[in-house]
Amino acid sequence: MDTPSKILVTGARGMVGSALVRRLGASASVQVLAPTRAELDLLDQRAVFAYLAEHRPDYVFIAAAKVGGIQANNQYRADFLYQNLLIEANLIHGAHLAGVQRLMFLGSSCIYPRDCPQPIKEEYLLTGPLEPTNEPYAIAKIAGIKLCESYNRQYGRQYVSVMPTNLYGPNDNYDLANSHVLPALLRKAHDARLRGDATYTVWGSGRPMREFLYVDDLADACVHLMEAGYDGPLVNIGTGEDVTIRELAETVMNVVGFQGDIVFDASKPDGTPRKLLDVSRLRSLGWAASTQLRAGIRQAYEAAPFYARRADN
Ligand code: GDP
Repeated sequence: MDTPSKILVTGARGMVGSALVRRLGASASVQVLAPTRAELDLLDQRAVFAYLAEHRPDYVFIAAAKVGGIQANNQYRADFLYQNLLIEANLIHGAHLAGVQRLMFLGSSCIYPRDCPQPIKEEYLLTGPLEPTNEPYAIAKIAGIKLCESYNRQYGRQYVSVMPTNLYGPNDNYDLANSHVLPALLRKAHDARLRGDATYTVWGSGRPMREFLYVDDLADACVHLMEAGYDGPLVNIGTGEDVTIRELAETVMNVVGFQGDIVFDASKPDGTPRKLLDVSRLRSLGWAASTQLRAGIRQAYEAAPFYARRADN
C-alpha cells in the first residue's frame, strides 16, 4: 500500500488535528495541508467542495468537529448536532466529488449505547439508547460513520471511521464550563494550589469510570492505520484500561502537587456510568497505546497554557 503523499488534516488547530500534523510532520515525504478556520470554513459547503477540488488530497483526516464536555454537549445541543452534521457531510461528499479515494473520520466513544456491555465492542453500535446528555453529538457522529459506510458501499470508496476514547494532551480546551474532565481537573487542581485552597471540586459522584488516551498516541494509531492501508469496518482507539473519576482526580492532584481534599459536587451530572472501549480489533491490526496515564497527565500539564504561571516550575 502506497503511503499518501498529500494529506489534508481538518481541525488542525484543535487537539487532535494538531497531534496529527505533528505526527505527519515527522515524515519528510508527506505534504500536509492544514487550513485554518479563516482559510476554510467547514460549515460552508461551497468553500469545502472548491477546496477539495482544487487541492485533491490523497487522504483526508476529519479531525474537525464541534466538541466539548458533558455540560457543553447538554447545553448547546442544537449547535453540536447541526455543526457536526454539516462538517462531516461537506467533507465526505466533497471528498467523493473530488475523487478522493481514502479518508479517515474520527468519532467518539459516546456513539455507543449508554448501558452497553463493557468493554465496548464495535458491533454494539446502534443496539440501544444513547446517553441523553450527549445524544445530539452522538447522533451526528453516527451519521458520519454511516456516511462513510454508504459511500464505500455505493461508490467503492475507502472511507474509514475510528472511535477514540476520551482524549487529552497539548492544545486541549481548558475552559472550565466547556471542557472535558481531565483538562478541567488539571486546571482546577493547579488553580487550587496557586490560591492555597484547602479543597478542589470534582463534578458528580466520582464513581463513573473513564478511559483516557494521550492524543499523540491517537495520532500514531491513525497514521498506523493509514499506512497499513486499512479500509475495514469501524475501529475503537483506546488504551483498554479505565479509572474512576475519583482515581483520576487523585492522580491529577498528585501530578500538580496540590495537597488538599476533593469535594464532590452532586448537583452536576455523572453521565454514562462506564465507557471502556474494547481494543482487540486495533491490537489485531498491530497497534497498542504506549503512554501511561500519569506520564501523559504530566506531559499535558507541562504543555498547558497556564503551566508557566506557577512560580516553582
Ligand atoms: P463524558 O465522558 O462525555 O461524560 O464527559 P466529561 O469528560 O465532561 O465528564 C466525564 C465525567 O467526569 C463525568 O462523570 C463528570 O461529571 C466528571 N467530572 C468531574 N469533574 C468534572 C469537571 O470539572 N468537568 C467535567 N467536564 N467533568 C467532570
